[in-house]
Formats: sequence, C-alpha cells, structure tokens
Amino acid sequence: MNVAFKKPASSARSLDSIAEALLLPTGIDGVYARTAAFEQVVNCLSNLISRYREPEMEVLRFPPVMSRRQLEKSGYLKNFPHFLGCVSCLAGNEAEIGAAVERHEAGGDWASQLSAVDLVLSPAACYPIYPLVASRGQVPAAGLVFDVACDCFRREPSKLLDRLQSFRMREYVSIGTPKQVEEFRRRWMTRAQGFAEQLGLTYRIDQASDPFFGRGRKLMATSQLEQALKFELLVPVHSAEQPTACMSFNNHRDHFGATWSLCTEAGEVAHTACVAFGIDRLALALFATHGLDLPHWPVAVRKALTV
Ligand code: ATP
Ligand code: ZN
Ligand code: MG
Repeated sequence: MNVAFKKPASSARSLDSIAEALLLPTGIDGVYARTAAFEQVVNCLSNLISRYREPEMEVLRFPPVMSRRQLEKSGYLKNFPHFLGCVSCLAGNEAEIGAAVERHEAGGDWASQLSAVDLVLSPAACYPIYPLVASRGQVPAAGLVFDVACDCFRREPSKLLDRLQSFRMREYVSIGTPKQVEEFRRRWMTRAQGFAEQLGLTYRIDQASDPFFGRGRKLMATSQLEQALKFELLVPVHSAEQPTACMSFNNHRDHFGATWSLCTEAGEVAHTACVAFGIDRLALALFATHGLDLPHWPVAVRKALTV
C-alpha cells in the first residue's frame, strides 16, 4: 500500500512557529507542558476515536508503569533495550538513604544509591493486556477485542516536536485466530483512512519496520517487512519526504500468544494484532495542517471533533 499522499501537503505550517502555543519546554528534550488548546484537541480526538470503538470491545486504562518482569518476558528488553526506562528508587536502610540525600546536599552524587525496582515505564499501551487475558483462561471462539491506553515512555530524546520521550498512546487490540486478527488489522487500516479524511489530514499508508537493537536488527526488520507485519499511517507533519507515523497497524502473529500461553478454544496458540493511535502526534498533525486558530478550522473537521 505504498501510494502517494492523498491531498497535497501544501497547507502544513512550520511546527516551530506553533510550538509556543501548544507545547512548552520543560528543559528536557521530548518532554513538554501541554497547553489548554493542545489538550482540548487531544480530548476531542480521544472522543472521536471512542466513537469508532467496536461494541464488543472491553475498555481498560493502564497506568504509565507496568511490571518489569512482564515486559522482560514480552521480549522488549531483547529487541528495544535502548528505549526502555526502568523505575529505580533509593535503596538501603534509613542511614544509607539519608547519606545519599546528604551527598546531594553537599553537591555530590545521590543517584549511585538508586536501585531498579519491579516497575518499568510502559513503552506501549498493549503490553499488559496479553498476560491479563491469559490469566482468564482460553480465548473464546469469537475472539476478544480491547480498547487500551496509557502514557508511554521511550528514551529517544529529540528536538523534534513529534518525537517525544513521554507521549500518549491509544490502542485497539485483537486476540484470536490468525484469520480473526488479520481481518481486524485490515478493517482498521480501512477505517483509519476514513478517520484521517474526517480530520482533513493528508496521509498515506505504508509498510514499516521497527528500530530493533543490536546485530540482529537488519534481519529482524527485513523479516518484519517480508511478512508485512507492520503498516503505518503517515502524515507530512514536517515534510512529505520524512512523514510522521501517526498510527500503526501491527500483526504480532503468535508472539504474545506463545509467550503467555494464550490459547483459543480449539487449543491453538492465539494470534494478536493491535492498532495504535499516537494521540500527541495526531493532535500535532491537526495543528500543523489547520493552524492554531480552532474556530477557523474547516467546518467538517470541527464537526468531526465536535469543537
Ligand atoms: P516511529 O517510526 O516514528 O519511531 P514507531 O514505529 O516507533 O514510530 P509504534 O511503536 O508503532 O511507533 O507506536 C505506535 C504509535 O505511537 C506511533 O504510530 C506514533 O503515532 C506513536 N509514537 C511512537 N513513538 C513516539 C514518540 N517518540 N513520540 C510521539 N509519538 C510516538
Ligand atoms: Zn500494541
Ligand atoms: Mg519509534
């Protein structure tokens, strides 16, 4: 599905010029204070996405941290250790913790007393759902669908406003037979185009691969492409040459099913797929396309967002 952008990208505004009205610097690249205007659009977008929800979907909202053990077992540490943030806290007895604080007050280092705990910062919204569903038993014949979301962290600091370290992700997830999950992914790839059109966004859908870590990265990326496991909805937020992935459509095949012993009623290993909405990127794409002045956005877009 490598096609030219639908609609010309001519209306895109310079992101830097709109930054101060949307995202305020905190002194850390990729971490911003969000303004009321930005949050208004984020809320409207979230509501619009909810209106696309399938009736059978179970809604779950996860906190921004998850079990370290679960994420390790999911393969994230092996494939993307360079993005992972782990929670660490001051360890030791009262005297040791007190000594670390005193070292800091004396201008020294306190962080050496930190010790990793059993939590990581969630890098995507769907990781916690697979062990949770596995703990409930077999997946029914009709399959299962979920609506999940959380604040995500990825250690990829950048000056670019669309590459954040802390960002919000909403996902629709399917668990079932290979046929069920691939049909789910395909129907969302079609629906996503209607969604982008409702928002007046220029877009194209293209195949993609993940930025795997280490020596095996090329092999992993090639295999992902060959099997067409990942597609992205790309919007020319900065430029048509380097468009921004605002959504992704992922077929994990039996990866999570095998990891968590997720079985279908027929006794087969369950397959899984997810459709991710990059909420902050979608909001930014809207401002880049339609400008800062919400009342002057195209009527159809305002109607879709009910702003
Ligand atoms: P990219 O290719 O731009 O790095 P990705 O392939 O890492 O994106 P996914 O892992 O598929 O992205 O994550 C799902 C969605 O979350 C993306 O389509 C995007 O909209 C959003 N997202 C991912 N990384 C970031 C980030 N650093 N800042 C803001 N949004 C992000
Ligand atoms: Zn996912
Ligand atoms: Mg990425």
